[in-house]
Amino acid sequence: MASNRSGRHKIGISFEFFPPKSEDMDAQLWTAVDKLQEWDPDFVSVTYGAGGTTKAPTLATVGRFIADTPLKTASHLTCVGATKAETHSVVESFRSIGVKHFVALRGDAPGGVGAPYTPFPGGYANASELVAGLRSLGDFEISVSAYPEKHPESADVDADIAMLKRKADNGADRALTQFFFDNDNFERYLEKVRSVGVTIPIVPGIMPIQNLTQLKRFAGACGAVIPSFLDRRFAGYDDKPEERAKVAAEVAAEQVEDLIRRGIDEFHFYTMNRSPLVSKVLENLGLQRREERSGAAA
Ligand code: FAD
Repeated sequence: MASNRSGRHKIGISFEFFPPKSEDMDAQLWTAVDKLQEWDPDFVSVTYGAGGTTKAPTLATVGRFIADTPLKTASHLTCVGATKAETHSVVESFRSIGVKHFVALRGDAPGGVGAPYTPFPGGYANASELVAGLRSLGDFEISVSAYPEKHPESADVDADIAMLKRKADNGADRALTQFFFDNDNFERYLEKVRSVGVTIPIVPGIMPIQNLTQLKRFAGACGAVIPSFLDRRFAGYDDKPEERAKVAAEVAAEQVEDLIRRGIDEFHFYTMNRSPLVSKVLENLGLQRREERSGAAA
């Protein structure tokens, strides 16, 4: 956790980005990174393999983070479509550009989210195996996923927690959760996780809501519940982007404040490669940008 972060709260923060798919998206990403690095996140992460891509877009994006920013950068890595030897060669490519932290995932079937997953012949079958593989390859920092509201393929939350325990036992350092909006669900999940002896930090994934309608479209497939209070909070703002953004920042900041009251002190923000909403959430939380902190210290 960043020990020098001041303001109302001392919390750890990290930001998730995805590799851009066009020139416009490239410009959008680096503008967002420029703005968000003012918050001095503990680390940032870059997703891997979305939409059936392989390592190239992630490698290029992670490489630029490492070359052009002071940010500690983690690369996501999945087991999809690769033998163990191929995965090891991907790990070497990332290691050679300076990556020391992986977010180790199984990934989704090439048919997309929800299609039945079959392990690639000769590849890692799931994230817990991948964690063990990474541990055997080097002294990497390893984050993994966690699903407070159940992974869609899981029989139940207990099966999810059993997988999380295997990942922790194999050497994961922390879990980053799928986004969720019901903190009671998260607290119940955390109690169960602790009761089976998993002690690694379980870091809530916070998704500031850019667009509730779009979010509803993919939330179910990701294993996230959209509580009805969100409909009430966003009602009437469909055609009012400024007011909608204000509500979105309030909702996310209230969720974080409530989690802080419940004893959580690290948060992973899904940025969607945009800065204004995440920055507004952090402002609402009373955090300070690097400039404000150094001004206050002077
Ligand atoms: P695991 O931890 O291996 O499994 C998750 C759960 O699914 C298990 O608890 C288990 O109960 C259940 N499960 C898994 N396999 C089966 C099976 N065959 N049958 C029954 N149940 C099963 N995806 C990407 O493609 N790229 C990314 O960069 C990426 N980043 C992510 C970051 C975070 C923080 C999170 C939460 C998810 C991310 N995902 C990403 C999505 C992830 O790849 C999918 O949710 C995928 O379906 C599961 O991967 P996992 O590592 O969570 O799987």
